[in-house]
Amino acid sequence: MSGPGGVRALRAVARLGGLAAVAAAGLSLSGPAAAAPWCGSPSPVDRPAAVAGHQIRVVYAFPSDGADESAAFAARISDDVDAVEEWWRVQDPARAPRFDRALFPCGAQADVIAVRLRRTGEELRAEQDRFPTIANLVSDAVEDSPYLKYLVYYDGPLDGDEICGQGGGSFGGAGVAVVYVQACADEPTAVVAAHELLHALGALPAPGPPHACSAEDNGHTCDSPDDILWPFATLVPLPALFLDVGRDDYYDHAGGWPDIRDSAWLRRLDAQVSLALRLQGRGTVESNVPGLECSADCTSEWDAGSQVTLVATPGPGQVFARWSGGCAGRAPSCSLTVAEPMSVGAVFGPTAFPVRVSIAGRGTVRSTPAGIACPGACAGRLPSYTRVRLVAKPARGWRFKAWTGVCRGSAARCTLTLEGAARTRASFTRVRPS
Ligand SMILES: [Zn+2]
Repeated sequence: MSGPGGVRALRAVARLGGLAAVAAAGLSLSGPAAAAPWCGSPSPVDRPAAVAGHQIRVVYAFPSDGADESAAFAARISDDVDAVEEWWRVQDPARAPRFDRALFPCGAQADVIAVRLRRTGEELRAEQDRFPTIANLVSDAVEDSPYLKYLVYYDGPLDGDEICGQGGGSFGGAGVAVVYVQACADEPTAVVAAHELLHALGALPAPGPPHACSAEDNGHTCDSPDDILWPFATLVPLPALFLDVGRDDYYDHAGGWPDIRDSAWLRRLDAQVSLALRLQGRGTVESNVPGLECSADCTSEWDAGSQVTLVATPGPGQVFARWSGGCAGRAPSCSLTVAEPMSVGAVFGPTAFPVRVSIAGRGTVRSTPAGIACPGACAGRLPSYTRVRLVAKPARGWRFKAWTGVCRGSAARCTLTLEGAARTRASFTRVRPS
């Protein structure tokens, strides 16, 4: 994001000291994940996404002078991502956060990116400005894109451990959730992640929610401590908490204010459509919205109604020829709405095709662009998938009669779009003396 201004609200989860001691005994950490245990490896760069659409990138971040413990943390982060997704589906079977997942040997798992921040642990220790600084450092290091929000696990020293996490963002734009792994040791990090993620998605939407805690704290709800957006950590495991108790403040509510359920970062499990891509020749097709990056036939699943722009890039020695199916034309980009299952073809081919010209009678044939100048150079290569022209010119005492082969007719100019090797013959006849 461009600057701290992109983050609308910063909401801390403060720990109630008294409650911590009471509840700690019965605490179980982040609920079991339905998905396979982590089998991947953290990476400093994003891997191709196994999900299509606006997505939440998952980051392990540590200070410039800190140790990279990403290998040790990744499994826990992956478990949290699975737990948050599973919890969300229980709360709303038709929605799930679209976390960035990559394909690993055991299936699609959280694509945990490890980021060494360009600030020391000391520089990030103080609460003042810590959140916007981390948010900006992470989006700068990974990718600044209108389609991305971030879930960040920050592993650095903190002044105090009262704040378990922070999150902020706008409903339709940038958003970052930060879990402070060195704070709130007894609070399940999956709870912190889900809570801050809601802030990153734009909760609470203002104005509107009737149970916003107060004018000063209008980012949390205060109608129930069982609500995930209760302002204090309660050491209750995620499965025991609720997404908008009463459904009247921020999720699936009947009010006129924005509804987090409509967020573009939530997968619509009840409205998935497939987009199949068929590639001919060598090249790649990528989408502007993350999720499609194909160098062979591929299929991706999208929320119905997704607006996607596809861009075709030819491989070495190839050109993009044309689209087919759901896209048309020869321009390398194609915008479409994935409203129903659809198929798009992209054709790539060599940059030029051989052309052979022969002449009957006496005259010449030349090409634009140059390549054929017959007689002399009657065989050559002309650019593919673009308009080329052959012009027949009779010798003195002769006139042009007709083309045969790929060119037809009796006009001396022949315009072609080569989609393969081509042959043509130009016939001239002697002019009869009158
Ligand atoms: Zn909060």
